Amino acid sequence: MADWADRYRQKWTWDKIAWGSHCVDCYPSNCPHRVYVRNGRVMREEAAGDFTPIEPGVPDMNPAGCQKGASWSQMLTGAERVLHPLRRVGERGAGRWQQISWDEALTEIADAMLDAIQEAGPQSIVRIGTPGEGGTQSMILAGGVFNRLGVTSTDVQSEINDFNPGLYATFGRFDPVASNDDWFHSELLLIWANNPVYSAIPFYHYVAEARYNGAEVVTIAPDYSPSAIHGDYFVPVRIGSDAALALSMCRVIIDEQLVNEAFVREQTDLSFLVRTDTGKFLRQCDLQEGGSDAVFYFFDARRGCIAEAPRTLQLGELVPALAGRYHATLAGGASVEVEPAFVRLRRRLADYAPEDASALCGVHPDTIRTLARKAARRRTQILLGWTTGKSYHGDLMERAMCLLLALTGNWGKQGAGIRSWAVGMFDGPFLLGTKPAPGQEVTRQMVAGQRAMIEAMLAQDPTLTEEIVIAEMSYSGVLPLHAVPSAFFWYHHCGYRARWNDGGWNDASMKRPFDDYVREGIDKGWWPDSAQAQTPPRVLFEIGGNLLRRQRGGQGMLLEHLWPKLRLIVSMDWRMSTTGRHSDIVLPAAQHYEKPNFPYTTPDVMNLTLSDRAVDPPGEARSEWQFTLMLAKTIAERAKARGLVEITAGNGGSVRLDTLYEDISFNGALADDDAVIDEMVRDSAVMGTIPADTTLATLREKGWVRFTGWGRSPMALAQASDLRPDATHSPFRWQTEKKEPFPTLTRRAQFYIDHEWFLEAGEELPVHKEAPAQGGNYPFQITSGHPRWSVNSMNSTSRTILNTVRGEPVAHINDRDAAARGIVNGEPMRVFNDVGTVIVQARVTPAVQPGQLVMYNGFEPYQFEGWQDFSNLEPGMVKWLHLAGGYGHLRYRALHWQPVPIDRAVRVDVAPVSGT
Ligand code: SF4
Repeated sequence: MADWADRYRQKWTWDKIAWGSHCVDCYPSNCPHRVYVRNGRVMREEAAGDFTPIEPGVPDMNPAGCQKGASWSQMLTGAERVLHPLRRVGERGAGRWQQISWDEALTEIADAMLDAIQEAGPQSIVRIGTPGEGGTQSMILAGGVFNRLGVTSTDVQSEINDFNPGLYATFGRFDPVASNDDWFHSELLLIWANNPVYSAIPFYHYVAEARYNGAEVVTIAPDYSPSAIHGDYFVPVRIGSDAALALSMCRVIIDEQLVNEAFVREQTDLSFLVRTDTGKFLRQCDLQEGGSDAVFYFFDARRGCIAEAPRTLQLGELVPALAGRYHATLAGGASVEVEPAFVRLRRRLADYAPEDASALCGVHPDTIRTLARKAARRRTQILLGWTTGKSYHGDLMERAMCLLLALTGNWGKQGAGIRSWAVGMFDGPFLLGTKPAPGQEVTRQMVAGQRAMIEAMLAQDPTLTEEIVIAEMSYSGVLPLHAVPSAFFWYHHCGYRARWNDGGWNDASMKRPFDDYVREGIDKGWWPDSAQAQTPPRVLFEIGGNLLRRQRGGQGMLLEHLWPKLRLIVSMDWRMSTTGRHSDIVLPAAQHYEKPNFPYTTPDVMNLTLSDRAVDPPGEARSEWQFTLMLAKTIAERAKARGLVEITAGNGGSVRLDTLYEDISFNGALADDDAVIDEMVRDSAVMGTIPADTTLATLREKGWVRFTGWGRSPMALAQASDLRPDATHSPFRWQTEKKEPFPTLTRRAQFYIDHEWFLEAGEELPVHKEAPAQGGNYPFQITSGHPRWSVNSMNSTSRTILNTVRGEPVAHINDRDAAARGIVNGEPMRVFNDVGTVIVQARVTPAVQPGQLVMYNGFEPYQFEGWQDFSNLEPGMVKWLHLAGGYGHLRYRALHWQPVPIDRAVRVDVAPVSGT
C-alpha cells in the first residue's frame, strides 16, 4: 500500500495540460492559465506566469491571475450548472422546469422567430447586447443568425455603461488605453473614480512598482478604498463633486502660470474664436457665402490677424492667441466681436478658486494647490475607472479631468494620459460574417479592397487619418456592428418614459420636459438607428448575459413592462441565472475549458490568449457556435415547411432562409469549432495584427501571442500610437509626434462644445453640477463599485470565494451613521427609496463617508432576502443632454455616443430591519 507521500504525489498527477483563460468581462482579463485534466475532468488550473519582458527596465506582467481564475474550474461542476435544454413549466419565474431535447427547443424557438418575422418583421426579435460571459463565442459567433436576419440587437455599451461620455466629447474617442505596464513610467498616478486593487487585480502591481520607481500615488475617492491604503495621498472628495476639484486644480495652474501653452495651442480648441453675440464658434460659413460649418479660426499672434485653423495639428509658423478680443467681418458685412475659448474658460474658472471649490468638493484648498502643482510639473496619468460614466454629471467630471491633462501637457507620451477601455486587434471574427467564402485568399482580396478604399479617401483629403475614415464608416453603418441604442428600446417598451420625465429625479438645470428633447432629437434626424427600437418586441434572446441582474431600474421594470409583450424568452447560459429563471427556454452553454475561445482583446495586455477545450462539455451543453449552426438549420427546415424561402432582413436587404446553415457555415467547411476558430486566427494573421505564421495549432503550443498591429477596428485605431514590440503603449502619440488631428468636430481635443443643447445646459465648457435626487430626497447616496469577489455575478455563488468574505451581500455604512440609526455590524438593514427596498447585511466601517453607502455589485438577486438586489433601488435615469446629436462627433455609432443609464449617487435611506 502506498504511503502518504505517494498518495500526495498521486494527487498532483494529470493526463494532459491545456491552455485556458476566462473569456469573461473581468476586463482586461487575458491571463494565460495552464489547465490540468485527469480522467476527463479539470482538476485544477494555475496562472502560466510566462510573459516575457517587453521594455528593458519595465517589470513584466507576470503572474497575471486572480482568485476567481484560480478557482474557476469549481464552477464547471457547480450546482447552478445547466446541463440540458429546459422548458418552463407553469408561470414564468416559478422555477419549475421540464427537460427537453435540443430538437424540441430549437423547433419551438425557430417557429416563434418565424411567426415574429411574418407578423411583425425581423426587428421584433431582440438580441440583448450583453457583456458576454463567453468571449468571442458568445459575442461574435452567437450572432451569426441574428446579424443575417437584422434583428434588433441592443447596444452593449448602453446595456453595461462602461462608457466615458466626457472623454468621448473631448477626444472624439472614449477609449484611450495605455498598456498596463505603461503605468510604470508615470511620475504621478491619480487613481480617480477607480479602485484597481479590486478591479485590476492581475495588474495592480504596476501601481506599486511605479511608486517603487519614484512615482507618487494619489487616490481620489469619497471612501478610504482599498486602493487608498498603499498610496502617498488619499483625497476624500465629496460624492459627485470631482468636477469642482479638477476645475479648481485647473484654476490654480492658470493662476500660477504653470500652463503648457504650446501644448494647449497645438492640441486643443481653446484658441478657437467664439462669437460673443451667439456663443458659437466663428465658422467659415459666417465669413463666406456657402462656406463650411466645420472650418474654424483663431487669432494668429505672430501676424496679428484672424487665421483659418488647420485641419491637422500642424501649426507651422502660426501662433494661436489664447487671450484678447477681436473683430471679424461677416459675409453680409456686419462686424462681430470674437474671443478665444480660453478667455471664456478663464471666466468659467473664476468660480473655482480653491477656497470656493473646497466648499463644493470638501478638499482643503492647500491640498488642491498641492495636487495642481504636482500635476503641472510631473508626467501624470489618471487611472480613471467607470464610476464617472455611471454618474449623472460624470461627463462633466471627465471633461474637467481632460482639461487638467491638457493644461499640463499630459498626453501622447509614456506614463501620461487617462484611461478607459478598448477592444480590438483580433479582427478575424469581425471579418467572418462578411466573407463570401472561407480561406485566406479571400481575406487578402477583401483587405486589399478596403485598403484601396481608405487610400482613395485619404488621397481626396490629406488631412484625414485612417482612424477618421474608419470612424466615418462605423457612423454610416458600413462596418459590421449591428446595434441600436438601447435607451430608445427602454423608452418605448420597458416603462422608462415615465421615469425619465420625472422632474424630481431629473436634472434641475433641464429647461424643458425630457420628452421635448426626445422628440426634437428624432425630428431632427439625430437618431435614425432608434426607429428599429420602436418595433413591438416578440422574441427575446439573452446569450451569456444576465439582463435581469444588470438592468438599471431593476428586474421589476422589465418583468412588469417588457416581459408581458414577449411571446418567447430564450436564455443561453452555463448556469441558471436570474434571467434564465424568468425565461421560457434555457439552453445549456459550454463553459471555459470546454470550447476553444478567446477573451476580449485589449491594449491593456496586448495579447491574443487562447482558452482551449481541455474537456468535453458535460450533459448536452454546446458552444455558442454549435448553437448558431443548429438554429440556422432548424430555421431553414421550418421556413421551408411554411414555403418561406426569402425575407427582407431588418437592415432592408434580402436574406435566404432555406440556405441559412450553408451560408453561415460556408457549406459546412467551418462547422467545427476548431475550424472556425482557426479561420479567425489565420485571417487576423493576414490582416497583420498577429505574426504571419499564427494558427490555432501554434497557439495550442504557446497559449498566447503578442499583437503586431492595430488592424482596422475603430477602438484599436483610436489608440493613435505606433504599436512597438519593445515599448509600453501610451495612446495619442500620433497627435503629439505626428500632429495628426483628433476625430472631433474641431479636429482638436475639444473643450468648447457649441451645440445648441450644450449652450442651453450651460455645459459648453466643463462645469460642476450637483447630481439630481434620483430615487427621492433621501440623505444617503449609493456609490457602488466593481467587486473583488466575482466577475459580474458569475462567481457570486462560488463557495470558495464566498468563504473569503461574509458569504452574502453587504453594504458598507459609516460607523457614526450606523450608531445614529441603531444599525449593528453584521445585522440586516433595510435600504429604501421611492423606487424600492433591499434588505442587506450592514458592514459598519469608518472607511466610508457619512451619508455614503458602498454596495459592491455582482451578487445575484436571489442572494438577497426577497430576491431584490441593489438595482431595485435605481431609477435607471439617463442624462438628457446625451440625446444631443447632429454635431461632428456627437452622433450615434455602435458602442459610442448615446444615452447610457446612471447608477451612481442614487438617494436612499437606511433603517435596522427590526425597526421596520
Ligand atoms: Fe485573469 Fe480574469 Fe481569469 Fe482573473 S478571472 S485570472 S482576471 S482572466
